[in-house]
Amino acid sequence: MLKGKTALVTGSTSGIGLGIARAMAAEGANVVLNGFGDAHEIEVNRNEMANAMGVEVRYSPADMTKPDEIAAMIADAEKEFGAIDVLVNNAGIQFVSPIDEFPAEKWDAIIAINLTSAFHTIHAALPAMKKKGWGRIIQTASAHALVASPFKSAYVAAKHGIAGLTKTVALETAQHGITANAICPGYVLTPLVEAQIPDTARARGITEEEVKRDVMLAAQPTKEFVTVEEIAALAVFLTTDAARNITGAILPMDGGWTAA
Ligand code: NAD
Repeated sequence: MLKGKTALVTGSTSGIGLGIARAMAAEGANVVLNGFGDAHEIEVNRNEMANAMGVEVRYSPADMTKPDEIAAMIADAEKEFGAIDVLVNNAGIQFVSPIDEFPAEKWDAIIAINLTSAFHTIHAALPAMKKKGWGRIIQTASAHALVASPFKSAYVAAKHGIAGLTKTVALETAQHGITANAICPGYVLTPLVEAQIPDTARARGITEEEVKRDVMLAAQPTKEFVTVEEIAALAVFLTTDAARNITGAILPMDGGWTAA
């Protein structure tokens, strides 16, 4: 149970982040949502979560490419709730292209959102966690933190970077009651994945159905997409006392992809 604790989930207006935020609220945590999207939809999700679970739910529109907005988001959350107990670095984007055609601005954006934002959130949130002597840092990494795929140079580089950041933070916080872990999902059918199907089809010269069957699920021995709920359940487990000795772990949840 996370009653009285606060969870901040970056990129939680959609997909995996929204699922993790809902699961944290269901455990009794106050939640800070973050991300972009339709203002009405965000407000509906915020209200639903707060009313169904009887917790406080706030929304920050901070842009994960802007260090000053990230710092302000953490400071506002700490002002309201005292400390961020559970920090989930989940915001992420994707771009699929051969590296020799990869736009430099897409590289910069992916590294900023998928990797550097996690440095900024941890940098800002860690002092209050240390003061409390308790904290959970959870990254939504990817199977691409462990293995590569063609045409995803920036994403794979950022996710391998997140794995290194997670291990380093785990070592630095090991005696402070804080754990840092990375969850590495395989393919999950969220808006991020839906959006890359046409691009992958174009880059490989195959149909969208073939992308799902022969590219995405080809890598997953189970031949099933991972679900948001399964990832959220692992994130919740990592917040429990039973998980206090899991730290610095890069945890695949990928239907066997990275076992191959
Ligand atoms: P999604 O597109 O559904 O959600 C991404 C979230 O990030 C949204 O809330 C979006 O608003 C937010 N976001 C994007 N740019 C932002 C910015 N500049 N500032 C703040 N928020 C921003 O995608 P998803 O599939 O739920 O992905 C979530 C995380 O899971 C990502 O880090 C992704 O790399 C990772 N992941 C996804 C899959 C998958 O198959 N879907 C697999 C492995 C890892």
